[in-house]
Amino acid sequence: MNDKDKKPVTIESIIAAVKSYQPDADLDMIERAYLVAKEGHQTQTRASGEPYINHPLNVAAILTELQLDDTTIAAAILHDVAEDTLFKLDEIKDMFGDEVALLIDGVTKIGQIPISLVKKKDPAKSKVDAERAKLKEEQTLETYRKMIIAMAKDIRVIMIKLADRLHNMRTLKFMREEKQKRIARETLEIYAPLANRLGISSIKWELEDLSLRYLEPEVYYNLVKTVDQKRKDRQIYITEAVRQIEEEFDDLDIHASISGRAKHFYSIYKKMVRDNKEIGEIYDLSAIRILVDDVKECYHVLGIIHSRWKPIPGRFKDYIAVPKTNGYRSLHTTVMVLGYPIEIQIRTYAMHQISEYGVAAHWKYKESGKSVKVGNSSDQKMSWLHQMVQLQREIKDPKEYLEALKIDIFSDEIFVFTPAGDLLNLPQGSNPIDFAYRIHSQVGHHCVGAKVNGKMVPLEYKLHTGDYVEIITNRSNNGPSRDWLNIVASSDTRQKIRAWFKRENREENIQHGQQLINDELKKLGYNSKELLKDNRLEKIAAQMNIGTEEDLLAQIGYNTVHLNGIITKLIELHKKDLAENTPPDISEMLKEIKIPAQEGKKKSDSGILVEGESGFVVRLAKCCNPIPGDEISGYITRGRGVSVHRVDCPNILKSIELDRMIEVSWANTKENTYTVEIEIVCNDKSGALTEILAVPATLHLNIKSVHAAPNKSNKTSTIRLGIEVKNSDDVNRILAQMRRVKDVYSVTRPINLPND
Ligand code: MN
Repeated sequence: MNDKDKKPVTIESIIAAVKSYQPDADLDMIERAYLVAKEGHQTQTRASGEPYINHPLNVAAILTELQLDDTTIAAAILHDVAEDTLFKLDEIKDMFGDEVALLIDGVTKIGQIPISLVKKKDPAKSKVDAERAKLKEEQTLETYRKMIIAMAKDIRVIMIKLADRLHNMRTLKFMREEKQKRIARETLEIYAPLANRLGISSIKWELEDLSLRYLEPEVYYNLVKTVDQKRKDRQIYITEAVRQIEEEFDDLDIHASISGRAKHFYSIYKKMVRDNKEIGEIYDLSAIRILVDDVKECYHVLGIIHSRWKPIPGRFKDYIAVPKTNGYRSLHTTVMVLGYPIEIQIRTYAMHQISEYGVAAHWKYKESGKSVKVGNSSDQKMSWLHQMVQLQREIKDPKEYLEALKIDIFSDEIFVFTPAGDLLNLPQGSNPIDFAYRIHSQVGHHCVGAKVNGKMVPLEYKLHTGDYVEIITNRSNNGPSRDWLNIVASSDTRQKIRAWFKRENREENIQHGQQLINDELKKLGYNSKELLKDNRLEKIAAQMNIGTEEDLLAQIGYNTVHLNGIITKLIELHKKDLAENTPPDISEMLKEIKIPAQEGKKKSDSGILVEGESGFVVRLAKCCNPIPGDEISGYITRGRGVSVHRVDCPNILKSIELDRMIEVSWANTKENTYTVEIEIVCNDKSGALTEILAVPATLHLNIKSVHAAPNKSNKTSTIRLGIEVKNSDDVNRILAQMRRVKDVYSVTRPINLPND
């Protein structure tokens, strides 16, 4: 950055800039902000000796490059007023309204976060230790970055803070060396990554290069020198490459802007460190950037480049199809031009705006009203920033977008400090107990009180981001209180408290568990004695692989087994027992086997009344063939209606449940006929069958079937006749008549027993 080439920033230049991109801006507010800031800072100077007001004006100017709105610009001009001058935040609020005041307050608060960067400790003993230390450092830094975002609440606060830091870095040369290094380190580790997260690469690169200049001055100046020397050689073929590309595009009528640019020093430095290379071994110190109108042209251009020059394998990256998490989209490839590798970046104008200005691009650029086409990444888990970039594409109205930027991204976390200045993140809603257990279980177990920001607070006090927390312990304290389980926010804490109860207090836990069960059952209106009979808890414990009843009670007592689950199981067992001991409800069962009314006529001619009523599904049992006149009994089968047997049928007594027995009787239906079987044993001689077969006719009854089986061992025959009858009178008459036939030994009406 060459400060000398720049025109000095004035309030007029700022107002002119805002006017150019935000026609309806409140320029008067910006002007007033300037007057207030000028008055507030009038006696102050910067380390450079300049009037202090130049700093906020420069910060505002940086933000006009990102084309931020009038409110942000006014807040930027006022950003140091509340902290460094006699004006109080309330007065600023009265003069400029809530929004400006909120932004200033946010910037001030972020400035007050004590960033104690991980101190360099003794050299690590092993590689593993070093890796671990590095990881821890990364995590701490990430926590700081998250905390800053969480404290900001509105992304514009961070943008002002970044612009503030950028201007401070640009003027860092006026500081003492020790301060330079500290600020540069903080910038490199906290603010440059923040700018990267927001996708504002223009700020990110500059912060990194400036940090490098103060942290590693030798490396930096060597780089600057070498790149500058090489630039002259390289300029020749970069220019030639650009010329050739332009020629090619002209022939094909492609409109693109093509530019060569030097790479940022920090990115070259990172590459040297990563690949363990000297500056002389890094070839692609510059790149060519091609900007086109739409995505289709990006790939078209890529094709042209690859067919003209040989691409280096493994160097092609498609960040259009798969954008980076901060929203960056572009095609990257490296090709050999005149014997040297040159990186070529191809993207649309819109993608370029997002790559330079990140979330700020929303104000700056609209692709002639069209929204920018998004790569398909809906199924990948999106980072919060990705979501924001997504929002940026979806929300057309800048006001609405602003609302969306009032971030609540880390609303599930808070960030607090230990007395030693270490930063811890805890779940939202955490209290000093959570904090104590987070430090160490022993601190938690013996915690008796807490101070937050120097004042005593109750243990259930809800901690806020930025609080300093100090825990008061007492070794003779007996351990955690059971109530703590209800007030802590972190499941981790709860786990640790339970673990303590689990170890320390088995007997008490068993009693407590028993008490919990009894109370809950009582509350639900159950008799706990009744519900706990038959060793039900023992059975449940076995089922759950928990061990004995006592083990189960102990676990309920220290709350590692859910009481509700056990209560539900007990009630289930209880209901099952009840069901097995309660007679089934006959009327319910009858409802199920009732024949629907319109089918009733056809099917209800079984001639059987069930509890005096017709119209049920009824089956006459095949085993005993009941017919009108027989004494019968019925029972309700499962799914096949009422089965009707003769009362003397052994089958009905054998297999049915008494609960399902039901009263059945014969309807007075004369028309029905039934086939009964009678079994006749007679002397096996010719003529006997003829006589037997003559009997039904004498009684005007029809024979439906005849089956005869001779029994050679005793010279008898067993004859089975199927006879059509109306009722038991008919059967009795035929039985009597049959017994009179000579050579007949016995006549019976058989009952078929089931085959088993
Ligand atoms: Mn400042």
